Amino acid sequence: MEQKSKKIPERTCVVCRTKGPKANFIKVVKTADGIFVDKNGKTNGRGMYICKNKECISEAVKKRAANRVFKCECPAAVYEELGKIDEFD
Ligand SMILES: [Zn+2]
Repeated sequence: MEQKSKKIPERTCVVCRTKGPKANFIKVVKTADGIFVDKNGKTNGRGMYICKNKECISEAVKKRAANRVFKCECPAAVYEELGKIDEFD
């Protein structure tokens, strides 16, 4: 649920703590069905944000960042999918 506000909501990269509008980040989302890479930004759930750059993505994969953020075992498939992301718009 988004609250109306004059400010653009900022997201924070879990790796480097850079803040910015959500368009700058890849979102990984945890829902009742599991954890997914949210490519279109439309999945509702608890989100985790990673900068759209290779450094942050590879760090997130290496450190298994989602396990820490979501406090659970994130499926390897999620990290594989993140690792395959090499095109950013
Ligand atoms: Zn980052």
